[in-house]
Amino acid sequence: MRDRKELSVLKRIVVKIGSSSIAHKNGKPNLARLEILVKELANLRSRGVEVILVTSGAIGVGNNRLGFLKRPQTIPEKQAAAAVGQGLLMHIYEKLFSEYGVTVGQILLTKEDFSDRRRFLNARNTLYALMNLGVIPIINENDTVAIDEIRVGDNDTLAALVGGLADIDLLILLSDVDGLYSCDPRTNKDAGLISEVLEVNEEIEALAGGAGSCLGTGGMATKVQAAKIAVQSGFIMALANADEKEVIQKIVSGESIGTIFWPQGKMEHKKRWIAFSSTVQGKIIIDKGASQALLFKGKSLLPSGILGVDGVFEIGNTVSVVESNDREIARGIVNYSSQDIVKIKGCQSEEIKNVLGYQDYDEVIHRNNMVSNV
Ligand code: GLU
Repeated sequence: MRDRKELSVLKRIVVKIGSSSIAHKNGKPNLARLEILVKELANLRSRGVEVILVTSGAIGVGNNRLGFLKRPQTIPEKQAAAAVGQGLLMHIYEKLFSEYGVTVGQILLTKEDFSDRRRFLNARNTLYALMNLGVIPIINENDTVAIDEIRVGDNDTLAALVGGLADIDLLILLSDVDGLYSCDPRTNKDAGLISEVLEVNEEIEALAGGAGSCLGTGGMATKVQAAKIAVQSGFIMALANADEKEVIQKIVSGESIGTIFWPQGKMEHKKRWIAFSSTVQGKIIIDKGASQALLFKGKSLLPSGILGVDGVFEIGNTVSVVESNDREIARGIVNYSSQDIVKIKGCQSEEIKNVLGYQDYDEVIHRNNMVSNV
Protein backbone atom coordinates (compact mmCIF):
# COMPACT_ATOMS: atom_id res chain seq x y z
CA MET A 1 0.00 0.00 0.00
CA ARG A 2 1.32 3.44 -0.88
CA ASP A 3 1.13 6.10 1.78
CA ARG A 4 -1.88 8.34 1.22
CA LYS A 5 -0.17 11.11 3.16
CA GLU A 6 1.29 12.12 -0.24
CA LEU A 7 -2.15 13.53 -1.00
CA SER A 8 -1.89 16.17 1.71
CA VAL A 9 0.92 18.13 0.06
CA LEU A 10 -0.51 18.48 -3.45
CA LYS A 11 -0.69 21.93 -4.99
CA ARG A 12 -3.01 21.76 -8.01
CA ILE A 13 -6.22 19.75 -8.14
CA VAL A 14 -9.08 19.16 -10.58
CA VAL A 15 -12.40 18.16 -9.01
CA LYS A 16 -15.08 16.76 -11.32
CA ILE A 17 -18.65 16.34 -10.18
CA GLY A 18 -21.13 14.22 -12.12
CA SER A 19 -24.66 15.09 -13.25
CA SER A 20 -26.36 12.70 -10.82
CA SER A 21 -24.59 14.43 -7.93
CA ILE A 22 -25.39 17.95 -9.13
CA ALA A 23 -29.11 17.50 -9.70
CA HIS A 24 -31.92 15.75 -7.88
CA LYS A 25 -33.75 12.94 -9.69
CA ASN A 26 -36.34 15.49 -10.89
CA GLY A 27 -33.58 17.47 -12.61
CA LYS A 28 -33.55 20.44 -10.26
CA PRO A 29 -30.12 21.47 -8.94
CA ASN A 30 -29.16 19.86 -5.64
CA LEU A 31 -28.40 23.10 -3.86
CA ALA A 32 -27.38 21.47 -0.58
CA ARG A 33 -24.79 19.34 -2.36
CA LEU A 34 -23.49 22.26 -4.42
CA GLU A 35 -23.19 24.40 -1.32
CA ILE A 36 -21.04 21.80 0.40
CA LEU A 37 -18.92 21.29 -2.72
CA VAL A 38 -18.29 25.01 -3.09
CA LYS A 39 -17.38 25.36 0.58
CA GLU A 40 -14.86 22.54 0.31
CA LEU A 41 -13.30 24.00 -2.84
CA ALA A 42 -13.14 27.51 -1.38
CA ASN A 43 -11.46 26.04 1.69
CA LEU A 44 -8.83 24.30 -0.43
CA ARG A 45 -8.26 27.56 -2.28
CA SER A 46 -7.74 29.43 0.95
CA ARG A 47 -5.13 26.84 1.97
CA GLY A 48 -3.21 27.86 -1.16
CA VAL A 49 -4.18 24.87 -3.30
CA GLU A 50 -5.00 25.74 -6.93
CA VAL A 51 -8.38 24.32 -7.82
CA ILE A 52 -10.19 23.70 -11.11
CA LEU A 53 -13.79 22.50 -11.14
CA VAL A 54 -15.13 20.37 -13.99
CA THR A 55 -18.89 20.42 -13.78
CA SER A 56 -21.50 18.26 -15.49
CA GLY A 57 -25.24 18.71 -15.22
CA ALA A 58 -25.86 21.44 -17.80
CA ILE A 59 -28.11 19.32 -20.01
CA GLY A 60 -29.96 17.78 -17.06
CA VAL A 61 -30.64 21.08 -15.32
CA GLY A 62 -31.53 22.73 -18.66
CA ASN A 63 -34.03 19.97 -19.47
CA ASN A 64 -35.76 20.60 -16.21
CA ARG A 65 -35.90 24.38 -16.69
CA LEU A 66 -37.28 23.99 -20.21
CA GLY A 67 -39.95 21.59 -18.98
CA PHE A 68 -38.75 18.65 -21.09
CA LEU A 69 -40.38 15.63 -19.52
CA LYS A 70 -37.76 13.23 -20.83
CA ARG A 71 -34.21 13.70 -22.08
CA PRO A 72 -34.46 15.36 -25.52
CA GLN A 73 -33.50 13.19 -28.46
CA THR A 74 -32.69 15.78 -31.10
CA ILE A 75 -29.33 17.50 -31.14
CA PRO A 76 -30.72 21.07 -31.30
CA GLU A 77 -32.93 20.35 -28.27
CA LYS A 78 -30.00 18.93 -26.29
CA GLN A 79 -27.92 21.93 -27.26
CA ALA A 80 -30.70 24.29 -26.22
CA ALA A 81 -30.93 22.49 -22.87
CA ALA A 82 -27.14 22.79 -22.42
CA ALA A 83 -27.25 26.52 -23.22
CA VAL A 84 -29.93 27.14 -20.60
CA GLY A 85 -28.52 24.72 -18.02
CA GLN A 86 -24.95 25.98 -18.24
CA GLY A 87 -26.13 29.51 -17.50
CA LEU A 88 -28.15 28.31 -14.55
CA LEU A 89 -25.23 26.36 -13.13
CA MET A 90 -22.84 29.28 -13.48
CA HIS A 91 -25.35 31.53 -11.74
CA ILE A 92 -25.46 29.12 -8.80
CA TYR A 93 -21.67 28.66 -8.66
CA GLU A 94 -21.04 32.40 -8.90
CA LYS A 95 -23.49 33.05 -6.09
CA LEU A 96 -22.16 30.33 -3.80
CA PHE A 97 -18.46 31.03 -4.39
CA SER A 98 -18.93 34.78 -3.91
CA GLU A 99 -20.02 34.07 -0.32
CA TYR A 100 -16.42 33.02 0.27
CA GLY A 101 -14.97 35.90 -1.73
CA VAL A 102 -13.88 33.55 -4.54
CA THR A 103 -14.16 34.63 -8.19
CA VAL A 104 -14.99 32.00 -10.80
CA GLY A 105 -14.47 31.96 -14.57
CA GLN A 106 -16.14 29.73 -17.13
CA ILE A 107 -14.26 27.77 -19.81
CA LEU A 108 -16.20 25.62 -22.28
CA LEU A 109 -14.08 23.21 -24.30
CA THR A 110 -14.52 20.72 -27.14
CA LYS A 111 -12.26 17.96 -28.41
CA GLU A 112 -10.65 20.32 -30.93
CA ASP A 113 -9.40 22.51 -28.11
CA PHE A 114 -7.24 19.55 -27.11
CA SER A 115 -6.40 18.08 -30.53
CA ASP A 116 -5.35 21.34 -32.20
CA ARG A 117 -1.96 22.09 -30.66
CA ARG A 118 -2.39 25.87 -30.98
CA ARG A 119 -5.79 25.86 -29.31
CA PHE A 120 -4.45 23.46 -26.67
CA LEU A 121 -1.67 25.89 -25.75
CA ASN A 122 -4.13 28.78 -25.82
CA ALA A 123 -6.52 27.03 -23.45
CA ARG A 124 -3.59 26.27 -21.17
CA ASN A 125 -2.52 29.91 -21.09
CA THR A 126 -6.05 30.96 -20.15
CA LEU A 127 -6.23 28.39 -17.38
CA TYR A 128 -2.88 29.49 -15.95
CA ALA A 129 -3.87 33.16 -16.17
CA LEU A 130 -7.08 32.47 -14.25
CA MET A 131 -5.28 30.49 -11.57
CA ASN A 132 -2.59 33.16 -11.20
CA LEU A 133 -5.38 35.65 -10.60
CA GLY A 134 -6.78 33.45 -7.85
CA VAL A 135 -9.85 32.57 -9.90
CA ILE A 136 -11.39 29.09 -9.81
CA PRO A 137 -11.91 27.98 -13.43
CA ILE A 138 -15.19 26.12 -13.97
CA ILE A 139 -15.07 23.88 -17.01
CA ASN A 140 -17.62 21.91 -19.00
CA GLU A 141 -17.79 20.56 -22.51
CA ASN A 142 -19.15 23.17 -24.93
CA ASP A 143 -22.31 21.13 -25.46
CA THR A 144 -24.12 23.94 -27.26
CA VAL A 145 -21.86 23.61 -30.29
CA ALA A 146 -20.26 20.19 -29.92
CA ILE A 147 -21.72 17.52 -32.14
CA ASP A 148 -20.45 13.95 -31.82
CA GLU A 149 -17.42 14.30 -34.11
CA ILE A 150 -15.95 17.13 -32.08
CA ARG A 151 -17.02 16.04 -28.60
CA VAL A 152 -14.83 14.60 -25.91
CA GLY A 153 -18.12 12.94 -25.01
CA ASP A 154 -17.99 12.52 -21.25
CA ASN A 155 -16.79 14.69 -18.42
CA ASP A 156 -14.62 12.02 -16.77
CA THR A 157 -12.38 12.01 -19.83
CA LEU A 158 -12.72 15.78 -20.15
CA ALA A 159 -11.53 16.21 -16.55
CA ALA A 160 -8.52 13.94 -17.16
CA LEU A 161 -7.61 15.88 -20.31
CA VAL A 162 -7.91 19.14 -18.38
CA GLY A 163 -5.62 17.57 -15.78
CA GLY A 164 -2.99 16.96 -18.45
CA LEU A 165 -3.48 20.43 -19.88
CA ALA A 166 -3.01 22.12 -16.52
CA ASP A 167 -0.28 19.81 -15.24
CA ILE A 168 -2.13 18.94 -12.04
CA ASP A 169 -1.12 16.71 -9.14
CA LEU A 170 -4.50 15.15 -8.40
CA LEU A 171 -7.83 14.53 -10.16
CA ILE A 172 -10.83 13.84 -7.93
CA LEU A 173 -13.90 12.30 -9.60
CA LEU A 174 -16.96 12.68 -7.41
CA SER A 175 -19.73 10.32 -8.35
CA ASP A 176 -22.62 8.30 -6.95
CA VAL A 177 -20.41 5.27 -6.32
CA ASP A 178 -17.93 4.74 -3.47
CA GLY A 179 -15.09 3.75 -5.78
CA LEU A 180 -14.03 0.85 -7.98
CA TYR A 181 -15.38 -2.53 -6.88
CA SER A 182 -14.07 -6.03 -7.49
CA CYS A 183 -17.56 -6.86 -8.73
CA ASP A 184 -20.94 -5.15 -9.06
CA PRO A 185 -21.95 -4.31 -5.47
CA ARG A 186 -25.61 -4.05 -6.51
CA THR A 187 -25.78 -7.69 -7.50
CA ASN A 188 -22.94 -9.33 -5.60
CA LYS A 189 -22.70 -9.29 -1.81
CA ASP A 190 -19.02 -10.25 -1.90
CA ALA A 191 -18.03 -7.23 -3.96
CA GLY A 192 -15.18 -5.41 -2.26
CA LEU A 193 -14.09 -1.80 -2.67
CA ILE A 194 -10.62 -1.63 -4.22
CA SER A 195 -8.82 1.00 -2.19
CA GLU A 196 -5.83 1.49 -4.51
CA VAL A 197 -4.82 0.65 -8.05
CA LEU A 198 -1.11 0.57 -8.87
CA GLU A 199 -1.51 -0.23 -12.54
CA VAL A 200 -4.47 0.38 -14.84
CA ASN A 201 -4.14 -2.89 -16.75
CA GLU A 202 -6.54 -5.11 -18.69
CA GLU A 203 -7.83 -6.64 -15.46
CA ILE A 204 -8.85 -3.23 -14.13
CA GLU A 205 -10.36 -2.26 -17.48
CA ALA A 206 -12.37 -5.49 -17.46
CA LEU A 207 -13.81 -4.60 -14.04
CA ALA A 208 -15.18 -1.44 -15.57
CA GLY A 209 -17.10 -2.95 -18.41
CA GLY A 210 -14.66 -4.53 -20.82
CA ALA A 211 -14.65 -8.21 -21.74
CA GLY A 212 -15.52 -10.49 -18.83
CA SER A 213 -16.92 -7.62 -16.84
CA CYS A 214 -19.18 -8.06 -13.89
CA LEU A 215 -19.76 -4.32 -13.54
CA GLY A 216 -20.91 -3.41 -16.99
CA THR A 217 -21.82 0.20 -16.42
CA GLY A 218 -20.77 2.84 -18.93
CA GLY A 219 -20.21 5.09 -15.95
CA MET A 220 -17.32 3.06 -14.60
CA ALA A 221 -15.76 2.58 -18.04
CA THR A 222 -15.23 6.32 -18.51
CA LYS A 223 -13.81 6.57 -14.99
CA VAL A 224 -11.22 3.91 -15.69
CA GLN A 225 -10.48 5.58 -19.04
CA ALA A 226 -9.88 8.82 -17.12
CA ALA A 227 -7.66 6.92 -14.67
CA LYS A 228 -5.60 5.58 -17.57
CA ILE A 229 -4.95 9.11 -18.81
CA ALA A 230 -4.17 10.30 -15.28
CA VAL A 231 -1.72 7.61 -14.26
CA GLN A 232 0.14 7.61 -17.57
CA SER A 233 0.30 11.41 -17.62
CA GLY A 234 1.73 11.31 -14.11
CA PHE A 235 -0.96 12.54 -11.72
CA ILE A 236 -2.99 10.75 -9.06
CA MET A 237 -6.70 10.08 -9.51
CA ALA A 238 -9.19 9.56 -6.69
CA LEU A 239 -12.69 8.19 -7.24
CA ALA A 240 -15.15 8.72 -4.39
CA ASN A 241 -18.79 9.23 -3.51
CA ALA A 242 -20.03 12.84 -3.61
CA ASP A 243 -22.41 11.84 -0.79
CA GLU A 244 -19.58 11.20 1.67
CA LYS A 245 -19.35 13.99 4.26
CA GLU A 246 -16.39 16.34 3.61
CA VAL A 247 -15.26 13.98 0.89
CA ILE A 248 -12.66 16.31 -0.64
CA GLN A 249 -11.13 17.17 2.71
CA LYS A 250 -10.92 13.46 3.55
CA ILE A 251 -9.20 12.63 0.26
CA VAL A 252 -6.62 15.37 0.50
CA SER A 253 -5.81 14.54 4.09
CA GLY A 254 -5.07 10.95 3.11
CA GLU A 255 -8.05 9.25 4.75
CA SER A 256 -8.85 5.82 3.47
CA ILE A 257 -11.94 6.44 1.36
CA GLY A 258 -12.71 5.74 -2.29
CA THR A 259 -10.22 4.31 -4.77
CA ILE A 260 -6.84 5.91 -5.45
CA PHE A 261 -5.15 5.29 -8.80
CA TRP A 262 -1.41 5.93 -8.41
CA PRO A 263 0.67 7.36 -11.30
CA GLN A 264 2.84 4.96 -13.30
CA GLY A 265 5.51 7.51 -14.23
CA LYS A 266 5.43 11.00 -15.67
CA MET A 267 5.05 11.56 -19.39
CA GLU A 268 6.54 14.71 -20.87
CA HIS A 269 4.03 17.32 -22.11
CA LYS A 270 4.44 16.72 -25.80
CA LYS A 271 4.09 12.95 -25.43
CA ARG A 272 1.01 13.44 -23.28
CA TRP A 273 -0.53 15.48 -26.06
CA ILE A 274 0.35 12.83 -28.65
CA ALA A 275 -1.05 10.01 -26.53
CA PHE A 276 -4.32 11.48 -25.34
CA SER A 277 -5.24 14.73 -27.05
CA SER A 278 -4.17 14.70 -30.68
CA THR A 279 -6.47 13.15 -33.27
CA VAL A 280 -5.25 9.92 -34.83
CA GLN A 281 -5.38 10.33 -38.63
CA GLY A 282 -4.39 6.86 -39.80
CA LYS A 283 -2.42 3.71 -39.12
CA ILE A 284 1.00 2.31 -39.92
CA ILE A 285 1.21 -1.47 -39.83
CA ILE A 286 4.58 -2.85 -38.69
CA ASP A 287 6.26 -6.24 -38.42
CA LYS A 288 7.15 -8.13 -35.23
CA GLY A 289 10.78 -6.99 -35.22
CA ALA A 290 9.84 -3.32 -35.39
CA SER A 291 7.20 -3.82 -32.73
CA GLN A 292 9.79 -5.34 -30.33
CA ALA A 293 12.21 -2.48 -31.10
CA LEU A 294 9.54 0.15 -30.30
CA LEU A 295 8.18 -1.55 -27.22
CA PHE A 296 11.34 -2.78 -25.53
CA LYS A 297 14.31 -0.92 -26.97
CA GLY A 298 12.93 2.63 -27.19
CA LYS A 299 13.80 2.80 -30.91
CA SER A 300 12.41 5.11 -33.60
CA LEU A 301 10.23 3.69 -36.37
CA LEU A 302 12.25 3.13 -39.56
CA PRO A 303 10.84 2.33 -43.02
CA SER A 304 12.34 -1.17 -42.96
CA GLY A 305 9.85 -2.48 -40.36
CA ILE A 306 6.76 -1.07 -42.09
CA LEU A 307 4.36 -3.48 -43.80
CA GLY A 308 1.66 -1.04 -44.88
CA VAL A 309 -0.44 2.04 -44.26
CA ASP A 310 -4.11 2.57 -43.56
CA GLY A 311 -5.73 5.97 -44.27
CA VAL A 312 -4.46 9.19 -45.79
CA PHE A 313 -2.30 11.47 -43.67
CA GLU A 314 0.22 14.26 -44.00
CA ILE A 315 3.62 15.03 -42.48
CA GLY A 316 3.07 16.17 -38.89
CA ASN A 317 -0.13 14.19 -38.34
CA THR A 318 -0.52 11.75 -35.46
CA VAL A 319 -0.94 8.10 -36.43
CA SER A 320 -1.42 4.85 -34.64
CA VAL A 321 1.30 2.21 -35.06
CA VAL A 322 -0.19 -1.28 -35.08
CA GLU A 323 0.90 -4.88 -35.55
CA SER A 324 -0.74 -6.85 -38.37
CA ASN A 325 -3.39 -8.10 -35.88
CA ASP A 326 -4.34 -4.43 -35.32
CA ARG A 327 -2.90 -4.33 -31.78
CA GLU A 328 -1.81 -0.76 -31.11
CA ILE A 329 1.87 -0.59 -30.18
CA ALA A 330 2.44 3.15 -30.24
CA ARG A 331 1.22 6.53 -31.39
CA GLY A 332 3.40 9.19 -32.95
CA ILE A 333 3.88 12.13 -35.29
CA VAL A 334 4.99 11.14 -38.80
CA ASN A 335 7.88 12.64 -40.77
CA TYR A 336 6.47 11.35 -44.08
CA SER A 337 2.99 11.38 -45.65
CA SER A 338 0.99 8.17 -46.11
CA GLN A 339 1.63 8.42 -49.85
CA ASP A 340 5.41 8.45 -49.38
CA ILE A 341 5.40 5.78 -46.66
CA VAL A 342 3.74 3.39 -49.12
CA LYS A 343 6.72 3.97 -51.44
CA ILE A 344 9.47 3.53 -48.83
CA LYS A 345 7.96 0.73 -46.72
CA GLY A 346 10.43 -2.13 -46.31
CA CYS A 347 13.38 0.02 -47.47
CA GLN A 348 16.59 0.73 -45.57
CA SER A 349 16.83 4.39 -44.47
CA GLU A 350 19.73 4.97 -46.93
CA GLU A 351 17.39 4.12 -49.82
CA ILE A 352 14.80 6.82 -48.98
CA LYS A 353 16.47 9.48 -51.14
CA ASN A 354 16.64 7.17 -54.18
CA VAL A 355 12.97 6.27 -53.89
CA LEU A 356 11.46 9.66 -53.01
CA GLY A 357 14.03 12.06 -54.43
CA TYR A 358 14.41 13.65 -50.99
CA GLN A 359 15.28 12.47 -47.49
CA ASP A 360 14.41 14.88 -44.72
CA TYR A 361 14.59 12.22 -41.99
CA ASP A 362 15.92 8.69 -41.52
CA GLU A 363 12.98 7.80 -39.30
CA VAL A 364 9.30 7.65 -40.23
CA ILE A 365 8.52 8.46 -36.59
CA HIS A 366 11.29 9.65 -34.28
CA ARG A 367 11.14 8.17 -30.79
CA ASN A 368 10.96 11.68 -29.28
CA ASN A 369 7.63 12.09 -31.08
CA MET A 370 6.26 8.70 -30.16
CA VAL A 371 4.55 7.10 -27.18
CA SER A 372 4.42 3.33 -26.87
CA ASN A 373 1.91 1.25 -24.90
CA VAL A 374 -0.82 3.89 -24.99
N1 GLU B 1 -21.40 17.94 -20.45
C1 GLU B 1 -22.57 17.23 -19.99
C2 GLU B 1 -23.51 18.19 -19.25
O1 GLU B 1 -23.07 19.19 -18.73
C3 GLU B 1 -22.22 16.11 -19.05
C4 GLU B 1 -21.41 15.00 -19.62
C5 GLU B 1 -21.10 13.95 -18.55
O2 GLU B 1 -21.76 13.93 -17.51
O3 GLU B 1 -20.21 13.12 -18.74
O4 GLU B 1 -24.69 17.93 -19.18
